[in-house]
Formats: sequence, structure tokens, C-alpha cells
Amino acid sequence: MQDLIPFLAQALSPGAIVTDTADRQSFETDFRGLIRHPAECVVLPRNAQEVAITVQACAARGVAIVPQGGNTGLVGGGVPAPDVRQVILSLRRMNAIRAVDVIDNTMTVEAGVVLAAAQAAAGQRDRLLPLSLAAEGSCQIGGNIATNAGGVQVVAYGTMRALVLGLEVVLADGRIWNGLRSVRKDNTGLDPKHLFIGAEGTTGIVTAATLRLVPRPRQIATLVIAVPDADRALELYVAFSGRFGSELTSFEYFTRFGVQMLRRHLPKFRHPLAEEHPAYVLCELASCDDARDFAPGLEAVLLRAIEQGTALDSVVAQSEAHRQAFWQLREGLPDGERAEGGAVKHDVAVPISRIPEILREIDRIVAHEHPTPRLHVFGHIGDGNLHINVLPPLGMHLELYRQRSQGMTERIEDAVMKAGGSFSAEHGVGQTRIASLLRYRSPTELGLMTSVKLALDPRGILNPGKVVPVGWGAAGT
Ligand SMILES: Cc1cc2nc3c(=O)[nH]c(=O)nc-3n(C[C@H](O)[C@H](O)[C@H](O)COP(=O)(O)OP(=O)(O)OC[C@H]3O[C@@H](n4cnc5c(N)ncnc54)[C@H](O)[C@@H]3O)c2cc1C
Repeated sequence: MQDLIPFLAQALSPGAIVTDTADRQSFETDFRGLIRHPAECVVLPRNAQEVAITVQACAARGVAIVPQGGNTGLVGGGVPAPDVRQVILSLRRMNAIRAVDVIDNTMTVEAGVVLAAAQAAAGQRDRLLPLSLAAEGSCQIGGNIATNAGGVQVVAYGTMRALVLGLEVVLADGRIWNGLRSVRKDNTGLDPKHLFIGAEGTTGIVTAATLRLVPRPRQIATLVIAVPDADRALELYVAFSGRFGSELTSFEYFTRFGVQMLRRHLPKFRHPLAEEHPAYVLCELASCDDARDFAPGLEAVLLRAIEQGTALDSVVAQSEAHRQAFWQLREGLPDGERAEGGAVKHDVAVPISRIPEILREIDRIVAHEHPTPRLHVFGHIGDGNLHINVLPPLGMHLELYRQRSQGMTERIEDAVMKAGGSFSAEHGVGQTRIASLLRYRSPTELGLMTSVKLALDPRGILNPGKVVPVGWGAAGT
């Protein structure tokens, strides 16, 4: 049998194979620069047929495949695992927008379309693709599907799973499943698309998708509200969701700690309110009705909140530029944290009602770790999803702190699970959260996951060493 690389170079379109060590580096290294293991080459197919050829060629030679989108994942799912013969399959050249249908309210796109490009294509036809996250300029639709991405509009539109109507997938044996349907109702047995959404590339390679669109909002109100603490932020959430219902599209929480990092590291940062406060909410309302005036309702809710001490101050965006500045603040929080030196990160979810209680418990856990805790909390209050990022004590290197903070992470995750939550709300499991998966998912759940993995990929060639540790290392042995 011909060796893999010469075979693929011959069988695929020009430019499809990257072998040079320096050129492979950015594909082999994860977004945070923490994980790097070698791949034999990077394959950049142009279409589903080329993906299928690659999968068959790799399977025949016992080489594993790591699907990769924009490589913005935060758990090492899209980069190689250690000690496996593997290639990276980057979908970046499969970036065609096949159709936008304004009657069906759908768009069909290839997996390598960058999320921001898909949003723009929907916008050009007066529709909204309601998925938005800070990495949207780089992450791809295939990666969003494989991670069941969340982001800042889940409170109104759900996670990526709720937006996927149909998929095209290359299976582990090289067959192409064309499930690009756009029907909203289809109760004809099990729905195969759910085997691939959130599976982080371990069950199949998504090559295209049909996504649900919604009408483009015409009236948007965006506010930053200062609050004393998370308890009041939650009270405010109840008031806003009760008053505005499905018009409430984002309800984000962040703290003074994050704002201060932005002040220190981002020269263009402008604080939106007259003075700093302990915590903040960024809230957005949207309506398709041109005539919708949010002002009276907002005034009523805010006045009451200020009277009750729930809110301390607020500002409503007066222009699109003003609104963008609010969002840059919220979406810049991870950048501020990176500039500060990085953190040990946790991406947890609890039932919304338990947010204040879990934050108090986490305060206790982190304070127990170090007398001067550097805790950066932000997240999506309306989804119960909190990013709990703990920065090392001043002067300590992140890597050393990471090694020392295993116990803290376990205590945080134990508390979250005890509160009926999830140890990974939107980032997935990849290769960095497997120990937590094994610790917290029940034997029955792990058994179900293993059965599905083995049924779809019995030889373990799709993304080994990620999510379910079954077939790990099977390829190449
Ligand atoms: C600044 C920042 C902010 C973020 N904010 C959010 C947020 O708010 N919400 C959120 O959910 N995530 C967030 N993320 C995480 C990340 O952006 C998302 O997980 C995103 O959906 C990953 O897309 P990607 O194209 O970069 O995928 P990659 O990182 O390339 O891959 C992620 C996983 O998907 C698999 N995969 C990729 N493409 C395919 C495919 N075509 N078929 C099968 N498997 C595939 C990979 O093997 C890997 O397991 C953030 C990341 C950053 C850096």
C-alpha cells in the first residue's frame, strides 16, 4: 500500500497537504498555547468527497484523524493527543455558503465557514443567525456544531443544537451521510444528527449544515447595569425576563475584577459608567417590530430596581457604536485576563436559581487555597453558565499554579455537581476534561457514550483521546 502522504498528495486537490514542521505548528498547537503534539500532516480538503477519501486512506493505514475548525476550542479537542499516529483534517477550505432561504428561514453552509461570515450572509438577507461568541471571527460552523457552542444569546435562542436542522457528515468508514434537511418536524425514529452535535469530532466529520435563522431584529436596546452582587443580578434577571420574555436575548454578568484587568491592559478601554461597581450586567433586548419602544418598560424596571437597591446605576446604548463598545467590554474580558498572565479556568453551569449560593461556595474554596484570591467570574446568568477563572497569586507562574490547583478544581467541580450542575457548560470535554467526565458522569451514561462511539467508530480513528476514552490509541496499533 502506498504511504499515506504521497497517496493523499496524489488523490486530493493541489495544496491539500501541509507537511512542513513550521507550517504545521499553528494547527498542532491549541488556542491557549498549552497543548502541542505532532501530526503526520495537515489535510485541507475542498469537499466532502475529499474528506471521505482522506478518512478511507487513514483508516486503511491505521492513522487517526483530528477534525479541526477555527482551533479556538479551549479543551484541546481540535489538536492532536499524545502518542497517536494522526493527521489533522482542517475544514478551512470548505467555506462555501450554499444557500440562504428566507421562506424556510434557513441557511446551508459548509463546515469551514467562519461564524462571522455566516452571520453576515444571513444579515444580507435580513435574517439573523442567532449564535454569537467572542471567538466568532475565527471559529467555524463545523466546530460550533461539534462543540454545541453556546455564547451570549442562548437565553433566547438556545445552544447550537437548537439551530441545527440538518447535517452532512463523513462517517468513520468513509460513507457520506447527506442529512441536509430543513424540515422543522420529523418524527421518523431516532434523529442521527444528534449523534454528531456536541460529539467533538469523535463520531463523524461534519462537512455541511442546514441552520435555522430568525428574522433580523429591528429594535435593539443594550444596557450596562451596575449591581452590588450576584444575588441582585439574579433578581434583576427575574425582573427582566418576567417583563420582556423572549425579547430578552442576552443577560451577561461580570465583575469589577474583570473591568480592572481591562483598564490595566487595554489602552482603549472606556468604563461605561461614572464610577466602578462591584459587579455588572450587560443586558440586551431585541424585537423585529420597527415600532417597538423599549424605553417605558426599561424605565419602569430600572427605577424599581434602583429603589430596591437591586441596581446601582445603568446606562443604555445611544447608538450602534455605543452598543458595540459595551459588547467589546464583555467580549474583551478573556483578553484582559490573558494579558494579566492567564488563569486556571472552569466553565460550569448550575440551575439559575443556585448561582448566588454556588458563587459563595466558590469564594470559600478559592479563599481557602490562597489568602489573597484572584478570582475572575463572568458568564451567562440567563443560562446558569459561569466562567470561574482563578489567577495565580501575584508573582507565581501560571503553569506552577495549574499543577498546584488540581485539588481546588476538584472542589469547585464537586460543589457544582452537588448543586445539580455541569463541570463543562459550553467548552466541552476534549482532552483536558476527561478526568472530570469519568468522575462525574454515571456508569450508565459512560456506558451509553461508549456504545455510541464503538458503533460509529469501532476502530477508534476519529479524534482518539478526546471525550470518551475508548479506542484511544487503537489507530496505529
Ligand atoms: C475568546 C473565546 C471565547 C469563547 N467563547 C465561547 C462561548 O461564549 N461559547 C462557547 O460555546 N464557546 C466559546 N469558546 C470556545 C470555542 O470558540 C467554541 O468551542 C467554538 O465552537 C469552537 O469552534 P472552532 O471552529 O474553533 O473548533 P475547533 O477548536 O477547531 O474544534 C473544536 C472541536 O470540534 C471538533 N471539530 C471542529 N470542526 C469539526 C467538524 N467539521 N466536524 C467534526 N468535528 C469538528 C474538533 O475536533 C474539536 O473537538 C470561546 C473561545 C475563545 C477563544
